[in-house]
Amino acid sequence: MSARFPAAEYPFRYRNPPRSGNVINGLGEPVPRRAVPVFHSSGRRRLDWELLELFFLLTLPLRVFLSGLRSRWILRRADGRIARRRHAVDDVQAMSAGIRSIARGLGAGAVGISRMSADALFEGCDSPYAFAISIALPMDYRETEHVTGLRGAIETMRAYNEITRIAVRLAARIRALGWPARAYCESADILHIPLAIASGIGQLGKHGSVISREFGANFRLATILTDLPLSPDTPVDIGVEDLCLGCRRCTLDCPADAISDSKQLVRGVYKWYVDFDRCVPYFVKTFGCGICIQVCPWSVPGRGPRLSEKLLARRPERLRP
Ligand code: SF4
Ligand code: SF4
Repeated sequence: MSARFPAAEYPFRYRNPPRSGNVINGLGEPVPRRAVPVFHSSGRRRLDWELLELFFLLTLPLRVFLSGLRSRWILRRADGRIARRRHAVDDVQAMSAGIRSIARGLGAGAVGISRMSADALFEGCDSPYAFAISIALPMDYRETEHVTGLRGAIETMRAYNEITRIAVRLAARIRALGWPARAYCESADILHIPLAIASGIGQLGKHGSVISREFGANFRLATILTDLPLSPDTPVDIGVEDLCLGCRRCTLDCPADAISDSKQLVRGVYKWYVDFDRCVPYFVKTFGCGICIQVCPWSVPGRGPRLSEKLLARRPERLRP
């Protein structure tokens, strides 16, 4: 464990410990099923770990707390009136290119389109939308170098404010074309990661976050769900697996010892999994942690494209994308 970060000792203790987040997440379960929310609450249902989330919110520095409120305030316009006149879509490729261009014009660093899928929905939730537009916004690496401290948390919240604004505006632009669209920026409502992977934004890293060629893991995600006919992108292979199988940087630097070096069976699928019960108390103690994202070699600005090229060149030709 790195001495750079606070140790995993906590100023709080549970009187009645909540049910294990790993159990709720389906760790070790062989049968596929939908995910159940554990920690981030949308307020629509009671969560096993909601008291810890409340403690987290109440102990945040005021500036960070207010920044979180700002995102929620921006999100009040997540949905809205749909223009009566519907713009016909004869060419989905051209429409998709147009949407990508609008998203980038609004400030998104990366944009990907996928079909809406059940694995992005929590148990008991439904979605009337056919497509998902995933957007990514990079964080400033010089600021996220200060994670576990106030400066790192301020940068994370700045990115959330900004990506929320972009998602809300993009959804409004689609509704102005006469098609339903809703912006989602909080992990309480949908699972952004499976959609981001399906849309080619990046691949899942050992630390449980998406890694993109351009930004590594140092970015935030938001999603716009819509019925606007679009042409889905395809998942990418930039070599994340090749590096994660040999790299241990996030495993060693995580003070809570939450990252495993082997894939785990979670709801019927073997994948990288972060130990929820170890990660979240540390996350709460350190204003949202983020160490694993920051120390990941992919996150160093400018390194991703070269790293990807090198990793893919090392593979036998038949296994290259
Ligand atoms: S730090 Fe290393 S092992 Fe962890 S996600 Fe990044 S590349 Fe993979
Ligand atoms: S966010 Fe969680 S998994 Fe990542 S370093 Fe912090 S405690 Fe570990």
